Amino acid sequence: MNKELKMMSEVISAANKVEKRCLYTDARGVRCKNKAILSHSIQRRGPLRSIEDKGHVLKIGEELQVRHPSKSQETKRIGLKNASTFPGFCSNHDSKIFEKIENSDGDIDKESAFLICLRANCLELYKKKKSKIIYRELSKRILHEQGRKSAIAALRGTMAGISDLERNIASYFKAYHSSKMENFFFFSLEFKAPLPVAICGAYSPYYSPFGSFSYKMDPLKTSWNSLGLFLGNLQGRPVFITGGIRKYYAHDIEKTLDDFNTLNSEEAGNVAVRLSFENIENAYANEPWYNSLSDFKRQEIIRLSRINRASDLDYEDHRGKYNIIDFD
Ligand SMILES: [Zn+2]
Repeated sequence: MNKELKMMSEVISAANKVEKRCLYTDARGVRCKNKAILSHSIQRRGPLRSIEDKGHVLKIGEELQVRHPSKSQETKRIGLKNASTFPGFCSNHDSKIFEKIENSDGDIDKESAFLICLRANCLELYKKKKSKIIYRELSKRILHEQGRKSAIAALRGTMAGISDLERNIASYFKAYHSSKMENFFFFSLEFKAPLPVAICGAYSPYYSPFGSFSYKMDPLKTSWNSLGLFLGNLQGRPVFITGGIRKYYAHDIEKTLDDFNTLNSEEAGNVAVRLSFENIENAYANEPWYNSLSDFKRQEIIRLSRINRASDLDYEDHRGKYNIIDFD
């Protein structure tokens, strides 16, 4: 193994030792002390099973792994059992909190949307905590000054992101215990035919889907809200759900969802699919469907999934673009 690969492998094994403690906090704000189990951020029985091919799904986008850059993989076939798992909650809280979406009839009411967005934010927090270790280790190990500087900048950004997410998740639990789910808002859309994909995660948008800037002040001087997002077949119903908690006045994410209401449902569906690939890494597709796409469409999915909006101020308008998923 060359030096660089050896360093990356050490960095990744450090990141795999990230804290794995249940994220549940009770009504008094006390966090559960139990160890989190590996659970699915996208339910295995519902959305993942609906797109499986012989027990497997296709992961879209590159995972951080130790591999020579020339051997990077843009898609990867993985077993249902391992798709989308992360250590978020202890087994008690995992089943207690998410029981409703595991056993729902697929109706998208406020409570299911809330639970989906809560879990999406928890997944994002876990990923950010892992990234923090990666950047911290890199900033210690990279000798080249410019490289070290960018690792330190990324470390700072990730730490700020972790604090914001922890505060957002605390607000979700506060709302959860109040049982009114106050300050939670969401937008949902139902498709006409089953979706060949399952995507779930959270992100902090810089722009609304149609390009209005989401921040009322310099983004570096305020805390960031986050939007949870889900696209897939929930108990057999093909849906797009996105929502969040009103928290920081200076980051107006609720308004970003108003954009969807100005589109007809077909165009809103296409924009939703594109935004999901663009913003969320936790994305899976039915492999035969993916392989049946034209090269052009496959490249478009990969291009969208490569863009990292969190660190990219460019805006891309998805209106009027061809459909990635055809329902005819
Ligand atoms: Zn717990």
